[in-house]
Amino acid sequence: MSGTDLVISELFGPTFQGEGPSIGRLASFMRLSGCPLSCQWCDTPWTWQWGAFDKNAEQHAMAAADVVAWARVQRAGLLVITGGEPLVQARQLAGLVPDLIAACGEVEIETSGIIAPPESLAGSGARYNVSPKLANSGIPEHRRIRGSALRAFAGSGTARFKFVAQSPSDLDEIARLQDTYGLEQVWVMPEATSSGKVVTRMRQLADAVISRGWNLSPRLHVLLWEDTRGR
Ligand code: SF4
Repeated sequence: MSGTDLVISELFGPTFQGEGPSIGRLASFMRLSGCPLSCQWCDTPWTWQWGAFDKNAEQHAMAAADVVAWARVQRAGLLVITGGEPLVQARQLAGLVPDLIAACGEVEIETSGIIAPPESLAGSGARYNVSPKLANSGIPEHRRIRGSALRAFAGSGTARFKFVAQSPSDLDEIARLQDTYGLEQVWVMPEATSSGKVVTRMRQLADAVISRGWNLSPRLHVLLWEDTRGR
């Protein structure tokens, strides 16, 4: 494995971006392996939960040139780099993202917001979907909220913020983070891995989200394909 290789969990698409500001866009996905967090409702545990998943089977190294070649033959105009926590591999991404934008047109990076946006990606054209984790993740606040990183995302001009909520009682915590760190463009998304639960929780959240002046995102891939992996 060379120093520029990426540690990949899976490549898939074209499909639809299922969450957040670009929901419904035709997109391909590069899921990177590894995450320093351990959300109790994590929907991609095969990227980090090595007690339950076989690390050797779930991750593989891929040369940057091969990733670009894969991206070039995708029919989607949007590439979503997700995880796991993709910014754990920020050094490898720095050299790759401009080539991926050239190959696909647009790149979104999905991150938990615990690692500041790397200087090396500033001005690259990539945008961030930042999803800071709430208390409902089961993770202590000092591990899931990094104020300096959130302020850097908020000041980057390239970040939108998406929060996973289980009920309207989660919204006060989002408001507190928004005020503390100056977060704009807030999206709320239900924590759910079945279509029924997506709809139920969106109905519970909708009016409260409207009253705060935020946006509400379904999980389109779950509505369409439940929790099928690679969709
Ligand atoms: S940050 Fe994302 S990938 Fe990491 S444990 Fe939480 S939900 Fe899973």
